[in-house]
Amino acid sequence: MPLHIPTPLIESAPLSRAAGCAIWLKLEALQPPGSFKIRGIGAACERYAQEGAKRFVSSSGGNAGLAVAYAGRHLGIPVTVVVPQTTSQRAKELLQLEGAEVIVHGASWQEANALAQSMLQDSDAFLHPFDNPLLWTGHASMIDEVAAGGHKPDAVLLSVGGGGLLAGVMEGLARNGWGNVPVLAVETHGAASLHAAMQAGQPTALDAVTSIATSLGARQVCARAFELSQSGKVHSVLVSDQQAVAACSRFLDDHRLLVEPACGAALAVAYDRPEALAAFQKVVIIVCGGATASADNLRKWAVQLA
Ligand SMILES: *Cc1c(COP(=O)(O)O)cnc(C)c1O
Repeated sequence: MPLHIPTPLIESAPLSRAAGCAIWLKLEALQPPGSFKIRGIGAACERYAQEGAKRFVSSSGGNAGLAVAYAGRHLGIPVTVVVPQTTSQRAKELLQLEGAEVIVHGASWQEANALAQSMLQDSDAFLHPFDNPLLWTGHASMIDEVAAGGHKPDAVLLSVGGGGLLAGVMEGLARNGWGNVPVLAVETHGAASLHAAMQAGQPTALDAVTSIATSLGARQVCARAFELSQSGKVHSVLVSDQQAVAACSRFLDDHRLLVEPACGAALAVAYDRPEALAAFQKVVIIVCGGATASADNLRKWAVQLA
């Protein structure tokens, strides 16, 4: 039994109306740890457990860390997550509720990650949040499910942080004979690392991430994501933080699901940017989810960004 669940694919009347084409939602927000990340991280953790790992180590205070904690609890393997001081109380509590040991260290992720790396012993497995082929192959299972349902889209719309989801979805499209389906890769302006690399035509690091969509906050995408972006099948779309947050609120009313702005960014394209979808009749949106935002956070961000 894998650690993730098969998720529903539903047609969305409200998003279809807004976008002017058929919008189907792959509801990864329903994964038990709150996001798609458990697909790839669960698969990687199972592999490392078979290979004898005695502990899982992560440096993500977000959904990747939560997925590692969830996987460790289910596999009976202890988990240590090193997070920076900026990590929210809510995220730390969620990790502890999954039974993970949480170590707070450093002003930014770089320092937390450096400590996590320095702690690694021979029998530990380190779980990177996006740059690992085991993750991509695991994430690809979401497209296997779409294909098994026979719902071939004209395009797939998804959010990009470090590009693990992008790499996984494109692996899934390719292995189901859908390699020509275009992918719309959405980022917020303050976290547009894929966009910057595509503009430059070479791997590029942002000086800083300024978006509230913290789950998209990789300064540089993984090499695989950059390589895929050069295939001609990936189209970059940018939205504002305000659009991402507004999309979360609208989606909460429309589908009774609360997602992070990282996911709202993709939804915002359907709600606010129908022209970006004009060439397509049937679009699958990966509703990547995210467990670290509350309804109260959404309200505060909306006020702050207005
Ligand atoms: C991790 C994450 C992303 C981005 O995924 P990458 O593999 O880093 O591109 C998007 N949305 C949510 C909710 C996430 O947790």
